Amino acid sequence: MPPSSPKPQDRGEAHIRDRGDACPGALRLHQADDGALARLRLPTGVLTERQVRLLADAADRLGDGHLSLTSRGNIELRGLGESCGAGLADVLREAGLLPSERHERVRNMVVSPLAGPEVQSWAARLDALLCAEDWTPELSGRFLFAVDDGRGDVAALSPDVTLLAAEDGTALLHVAGRTYRVAAADAPRAALTAAGAFLAAARAAGTGAWRVRELPPGQDVDVTGHLERAALAAEPVPDAVPPAGAPPLPGLAGDGTVCVLARLGRVTTAQFRALLPAAEVRVTPWRGFVLPHFADRAAAEERLGALGEAGFITRADSPWTGVTACTGRPGCAKSLSDVRADARPREGALPVHWSGCARRCGHPQGAWTDMVATGEGAYRMTVQGSTK
Ligand code: SF4
Repeated sequence: MPPSSPKPQDRGEAHIRDRGDACPGALRLHQADDGALARLRLPTGVLTERQVRLLADAADRLGDGHLSLTSRGNIELRGLGESCGAGLADVLREAGLLPSERHERVRNMVVSPLAGPEVQSWAARLDALLCAEDWTPELSGRFLFAVDDGRGDVAALSPDVTLLAAEDGTALLHVAGRTYRVAAADAPRAALTAAGAFLAAARAAGTGAWRVRELPPGQDVDVTGHLERAALAAEPVPDAVPPAGAPPLPGLAGDGTVCVLARLGRVTTAQFRALLPAAEVRVTPWRGFVLPHFADRAAAEERLGALGEAGFITRADSPWTGVTACTGRPGCAKSLSDVRADARPREGALPVHWSGCARRCGHPQGAWTDMVATGEGAYRMTVQGSTK
């Protein structure tokens, strides 16, 4: 059976790239106006208690005492001194958060925050495979994998390669507009193989594409051939469209999982430590945290209340749910205003994103109310994105 045709939404931003991406990393720091910035990839999204403590200590000792969350579930430390790079790398190595220095900027993955152990294990194995290959550092720092537990939450974040848990226990691999059914045990290797197919296509196109949607129209991504050469059994699934699900809302998910959002995606180290004790802390691409494994509803409710007192958003009907902001001033020289101080609670139904300039860094997917600074404390409001 031939594979289905690429869907239009997977293409359409083709242009020529004449340089590598400039994405910051844990080792390649970005010099911002408020000091150096380090971006730490958390491929599985999971932090242990010890890792939370080490990161909080590092933000206090080396940075500005805050941690920022990104729309890819990464953590950023800001306000780092010029000579902090080596010290931060030591902390990350000690925490087990830097398994491969060569690969640290390509470990870009989003995982359904409420995923069970099997889907979590796909993400961990995919990360290990990424870090074990010589060719994967050729991927750009923008290339994104999604490992979705079937609810469609991270599949909706425009990833380049998606693994989706299917109801029959298999995995669906979605890349370049095509979908394949693979055995669950093969899922991580199939996702990595698909990334290899993209790189081959990017080389053939010669346009320096960082992402699948940047490939020129008509440039084939030979996923089928790569899967065959990797001896991976894959059944094409024609006309499959990955689901677009909603992220977990702040509050309780089930009886034993606590979900909170960080207001405007930034927490103090005291707030970060307030997430503990926890069996694990999951960082979400919606700038929040998930704490699973509470013994019962009463224990989870008690923790939710404590996190509300610590300043987290804990209710879906909070006017701050769905309000995001770029870095703005003083961290970003391009910003026309102090965006984070200017941001206001949401009044309408759509998410609201506040930006200091037209780049709109970190804006949400789908439709949103767009507040772009036009001067000090002045904003232009429009609705952006698709309302479909
Ligand atoms: S949107 Fe503009 S002002 Fe805001 S962080 Fe991005 S570049 Fe800076």
